[in-house]
Amino acid sequence: MAKAKYVFVTGGVTSSLGKGIISASLGKLLQARGFKVTIQKFDPYINIDPGTLNPYEHGECYVTDDGAETDLDLGHYERFLNTPTSQANNITTGRIYNNVITKERKGEYLGKTVQVVPHITDEIKRNIFLLGESGEYDFVITEIGGCVGDIESLPFIEAVRQTKWDVGQNNSIVIHLTLIPYLKAAKELKTKPTQHSVKQLLEAGIQPDILVCRSEMKLPDDIRKKLALFCNVKYNSVIEALDAETIYDVPILMRKEKLAERVLTKLKISNKTEPALDQWKEFLGRLKNPTDEVKIGLIGKYVELPDAYKSIMEAFIHAGVDNECKVDLQPVSSESLNEDNCHSVLGQFDGILVAPGFGERGIPGKILAVQYVRENKIPFFGICLGMQCAVIEFTRNVLKIKDAGSTEFDEKTKSPVIDLMEEQKKVTNMGGTMRLGAYPCNLKRGSRTSAIYGKTKISERHRHRYEFNNKYLEKIEKAGMIASGINPDTGLVEVVELTDHPWFVGTQYHPELKSTVLNPHPLFVKFVEAALHNKKENKS
Ligand code: GLN
Repeated sequence: MAKAKYVFVTGGVTSSLGKGIISASLGKLLQARGFKVTIQKFDPYINIDPGTLNPYEHGECYVTDDGAETDLDLGHYERFLNTPTSQANNITTGRIYNNVITKERKGEYLGKTVQVVPHITDEIKRNIFLLGESGEYDFVITEIGGCVGDIESLPFIEAVRQTKWDVGQNNSIVIHLTLIPYLKAAKELKTKPTQHSVKQLLEAGIQPDILVCRSEMKLPDDIRKKLALFCNVKYNSVIEALDAETIYDVPILMRKEKLAERVLTKLKISNKTEPALDQWKEFLGRLKNPTDEVKIGLIGKYVELPDAYKSIMEAFIHAGVDNECKVDLQPVSSESLNEDNCHSVLGQFDGILVAPGFGERGIPGKILAVQYVRENKIPFFGICLGMQCAVIEFTRNVLKIKDAGSTEFDEKTKSPVIDLMEEQKKVTNMGGTMRLGAYPCNLKRGSRTSAIYGKTKISERHRHRYEFNNKYLEKIEKAGMIASGINPDTGLVEVVELTDHPWFVGTQYHPELKSTVLNPHPLFVKFVEAALHNKKENKS
């Protein structure tokens, strides 16, 4: 296909309907027909990116290879499509305004009054066309965050309206995702909220082409007809999106509802190929028919909020499927752990992961958890802060350097085994200044980690400020914790492992960000395998 086609996904009635999963599923269905697809998300908040947002506000911050701190929906896009996203795939209102204001300061608007229309909308469109005109994609799917009618999303909706005119009717469509609530007392599905939400889009000059309707119940014929009639869409463009058992079912559900066919027809693309979904279906088959189960403890501090550890949770699903085993991932608040309850809480797990995080809160519990698994030979996986806690615990309890710590929690610690790098010390701005994105890492031949990866040169994604302090490296290695992964350019330690332990690996990077349905991450796969092994040994 010569030119990219543009698909916009808007949402109405309420947030949290799953625009990200619908976008990723449509992307998957188009990709399975041989098209090149990318998915982009516009977020209508003023932060430049979610990097400075608390997980309680926003859930996990996902990081791309090129170091963008992004919305967690980009994780879904990558996990579904198995292709990387980049800075260009997540744009916020803050970034749009920042770009426009920077141009204004440079005098680029030649004395004109800078306005929402056309300057802000032009900047939004520039970001849409940046992907569309790169020549790399047949389809650019753009998800508009928030709900139609929100004050914040108005400029984005206006940019969608203009794009439809710019590229012509056959090159762009709008899919509107809404909710069809079921009223128990009336025993009825209700279409009115959707009608109103479509009216709001119409007020903004946009007629949606396809309606995707989230519903707890199947949509009967008369409801579909009513929606078609009152929302000016074809009967077969009313797509039912029932609650799914797992997000990975959604592409298959959308296939049954012929979502991609409708998109292709509307965009006048004739494509008779059957989508190649065999691998996806095989994944689903294994996911639903596990032959075993392991219980993994996830020690973190945002445990009430599942979205805070989204990529870790998904990586465990992928790794479980690879092992034909269900992973029962149980969050444990590190703040609730103490010496008295440590055994009763942690003793039930076949493996333990200590999660990434920031700040002092919950650190003693994380260190205690590491000590417990190290001494009891329970498989351990530490990610970022989890790896740093493992280094601190080892230095304190094996090397007997009792005051070992990280300058993140105690600036004055006399034994900073985890410390800020020189260049981080100069940083004053919080946004976008961590070590972000993909960095190369060389794995030590003969180490557990290189055996797991099956190679010695890897690249993984980072998001942190603090690092293993190489002043302690020799002592730590002599005592049995080896640095099995080193950054070839800076000498920074990226992976540690214990030689005298069945499975103990800590990574300074975030492997969970690169696990996809088709490429489960080897560290997660082998960690689950080790947990299974541990469970079997304990039984016998
Ligand atoms: N707070 C630690 C640091 O900044 C770890 C960050 C993380 O776990 N992502 O280095």
